[in-house]
Amino acid sequence: MLSKIPETLFWGEDYILEMAPGQHTKPLALAFDGDAEELSFPTIYYFQPREFKVPVINSFNLMFRNVRDSTCPITRERLDDPEFLRETMNRNESFLSCLPNSIQYWQRRKNDLFAMMRQLGKQTVFLTLSASEIYWAPLMKCVYRFKHHIPEDESIDDIILEEMTGSQRAELVNGDLVLCCLYFDRLVGCIVNAIKLKKGPFGKYKLIEYFRRVEFQHRGSPHCHMLLWLENAPPDDERRFVNGEHVPKTIELIDELCTADSSQIGSERKLQTHRHTHACFKRNTRTCLFGAPFWPMKSTRILLPVTEADRIEALSDLYKSLREVLEQSESDDEMAFNTIEQFGATNSIESEDEYLKIHRHGIHRPTVMYRRSMRDLMTSPFNPTILSVLQSNMTFNISWMNIHVRLT
Ligand SMILES: [Zn+2]
Repeated sequence: MLSKIPETLFWGEDYILEMAPGQHTKPLALAFDGDAEELSFPTIYYFQPREFKVPVINSFNLMFRNVRDSTCPITRERLDDPEFLRETMNRNESFLSCLPNSIQYWQRRKNDLFAMMRQLGKQTVFLTLSASEIYWAPLMKCVYRFKHHIPEDESIDDIILEEMTGSQRAELVNGDLVLCCLYFDRLVGCIVNAIKLKKGPFGKYKLIEYFRRVEFQHRGSPHCHMLLWLENAPPDDERRFVNGEHVPKTIELIDELCTADSSQIGSERKLQTHRHTHACFKRNTRTCLFGAPFWPMKSTRILLPVTEADRIEALSDLYKSLREVLEQSESDDEMAFNTIEQFGATNSIESEDEYLKIHRHGIHRPTVMYRRSMRDLMTSPFNPTILSVLQSNMTFNISWMNIHVRLT
């Protein structure tokens, strides 16, 4: 009966079957379990303790050398000084900066980023790339091959993967997270290499420099935030709106690099289609925090908010009522409009100037209004080439204002 050992039971040192190995012991918090990492990833560590490589040892040596080489001797008075103790501790903890994702590591990276901003000026684009492991056929095939030990010269029938349910695909992904992360990392690397090329997808706006940070959502899927500095980007003074809304080079850059036209996505329209989630209304707002449905617009523009002195209350109210019409038209097919002209005429908007004026009463900061037809009210802007390679959701924002980057 005991020839097969159930996974939930343990064999003790004397080969005695322990029915309740955790009895009379207290649960150990993950943060205090020195072996948590090795036990969490048995396929990486094979239950062997992790060995720290040379850089950490070097940093330890450096740490003690710092203390020994101190020009000021450590006296009783200095040890009583809390400020001195705090500084000493900070200096001693600096060896942690070589451990990715530690606070000290990100402090060092933040300093690197600020140095880049001083050298290169304001970044041009803020790009976020997300992963969709279960929809990436090459990755799913690769994971399936490893799981079932299928040799490389043997092909895997597409139908096997096509017939898999969502949960079966998720199970495959959960079974080999390392491979999935490596795939995402390589994919992002390929995209970066492509946009560095002179004849790449960014054309004359080729990549000069970039900074990236990969984060993991609660469900464990990675996404990559990137700041891009591009060649031939509009000068900073244009992006500071010295000439008001007249920013032709910025508009040209936006139209060249991104679009909200879903006909360029192909069959995977849903990749860039916004779907409301609880996050959209988490501040108890009635409208979506991300601004969906987005406003239709004949051409790409950057609008500045109206000043308090020029504000007309009736136009602010009109903006709110138009917003409601837009939301209804999105949820109710019978209310939908075919063209922007039809939308304007139905709501008694006489000209494009009036339409733009109403908009300026609804925004609080300079806002990019992308060229958008009535059928793309829920389409987020994207770069067609990157999207065709990524096959997952992306956000593409031109940086025209100072943004706040949180790194720690
Ligand atoms: Zn939303």
